[in-house]
Amino acid sequence: MIVLLSNDDGIHAPGLKALAESLQELGELYIVAPDRERSATGHGITVHRPLRLETVSIPGIKARAWAVDGTPADCVKLAVEDLLPDPPALVVAGINQGPNLGTDVLYSGTVSAAIEGIINGFPALAISLTSYGSHDFTTAAEVARKVVNLTMQKGLPRGTLLNINVPPAKPRGIRFTRLGNRRYVNIFHKRTDPRGRIYYWMAGEPLDLDENGDDTDVQAIKQNFISITPIQLDLTDYQSLQTLRQQWGEVIFNF
Ligand code: MN
Repeated sequence: MIVLLSNDDGIHAPGLKALAESLQELGELYIVAPDRERSATGHGITVHRPLRLETVSIPGIKARAWAVDGTPADCVKLAVEDLLPDPPALVVAGINQGPNLGTDVLYSGTVSAAIEGIINGFPALAISLTSYGSHDFTTAAEVARKVVNLTMQKGLPRGTLLNINVPPAKPRGIRFTRLGNRRYVNIFHKRTDPRGRIYYWMAGEPLDLDENGDDTDVQAIKQNFISITPIQLDLTDYQSLQTLRQQWGEVIFNF
């Protein structure tokens, strides 16, 4: 059984190594990851220059591994199309340093690597440690192993990935959640460079939103639970599709 690992923190990130360590007995590991940190690159792909790659060895890990000078989505595409000898049974992205909650999944390279997995028809997981300060991936790695085992046993609906977020402190339990809402305040820091020109640096702190009910990932993490959210790629709003066809259809096609 081939398991493909990727991430957006780069091939040398400790979270990726922790993930590989915990999954190494479950299958034949292949690691294809960016050669440097590519966090917040979303689902970007590289089409205006060639992709270069080199094999790497990660100390203590039995896996074939490549570092690619592209995005997480590039890595999974390339792995599936050319580097793997057979299709993977599963694609696992992470363990990301930092949360991937709510609306942020759209910016996340980690989640995008998993999405690239489901685009290609393979079950996929994205896993994140919701702290930038803690580098202890032990619990998150254990959760990854358990969820991988369960996914192998029970399967996932085609086109669905699991987005898993693990808090740094000892979790109170696991919740299955929906995506919450995340908005940021003080997003841009406006500064002046040494030549007197204005520049902006995007950062910001997440705003606590009331609309994040108990069943959201944002709230689960806030209450120190592990959060598992099933995510599908199909962004179609089926209810509005019905409405458009029923109420707009006649008007709009009458020309
Ligand atoms: Mn990252």
